[in-house]
Amino acid sequence: MEFNTPEKPQWCPGCGDYGIHTALKQALHEVGAHPKDTVIVSGIGCGSKIPNYVRSYGLEGLHGRVIPTSVGIKIANPELTVIGIGGDGDGFSEGGNHFIHGARENFDIVYIVQDNHIYGLTTGQASPTTPKGMKTKTTPDGNMINEFRPVPMALVAGATFVATAFAGDIMHLKEVIKEAIAHKGFAFIDVYQPCVTWNKLNTYDWYRERVYKTTHDPSDWNQAWEKAWEPYVTDFEKIPLGVIYKKEREIADDFFSPGRKNLVKEPLDPNGIDVSFLAKEFL
Ligand code: SF4
Repeated sequence: MEFNTPEKPQWCPGCGDYGIHTALKQALHEVGAHPKDTVIVSGIGCGSKIPNYVRSYGLEGLHGRVIPTSVGIKIANPELTVIGIGGDGDGFSEGGNHFIHGARENFDIVYIVQDNHIYGLTTGQASPTTPKGMKTKTTPDGNMINEFRPVPMALVAGATFVATAFAGDIMHLKEVIKEAIAHKGFAFIDVYQPCVTWNKLNTYDWYRERVYKTTHDPSDWNQAWEKAWEPYVTDFEKIPLGVIYKKEREIADDFFSPGRKNLVKEPLDPNGIDVSFLAKEFL
């Protein structure tokens, strides 16, 4: 199905969000998703405008609340493909707590982070993944704090699908998104996304000199752990792309949605009370 909309994205020319937008639409099309069964949930940030540019259901929610909103939608209607998407500030600062517990709980959603290592929408402040030493508006003498490390964090928190990709390699990113959609459980993709306006360090060329496609065994936790740390132990000389870790385990949806009922079609609460009136304004 076609996921294009007449709306034109309003990102800066050259922004990495264009690559992510293209890859996401193509991935949805190629897995056979239908716009009526797809929901894109975002937070606040440049990239969080993306639900406006994909022909599907969408919700641009509160800052840092992509994961709980996505989980709520998935519990209410397990038939939907739910894609949560937002930036590194949204996901790892305001939403940091949700990121850890989202990975731990293992609800069946995809979570894509447009990781440009800066707050772009608010014009260039340091974010959790801003590299140490980088000068930004809020770190004029260079960032003195170690960056947040999303991939190792996702692993220790218990995520069952952890991947990295580069917004400048759309075909590869598309394949990773397709694999994440097919995975049963919390599927996290850290997408390296150049912000051409505010991040003059992590450019397309900077990434192209460092990224490579990993060929390790993603079912082996120890190999995954080694790959997760590789950028940090090599001082960002080597950055692996691809599925870092993948393993099936019980999904939390089954505990929170007993019998996996579609609450939209069967709006009964656990006490047998008809709560359909709650959903009326959305139907
Ligand atoms: S400020 Fe950066 S992240 Fe935001 S649209 Fe422009 S290039 Fe993209």
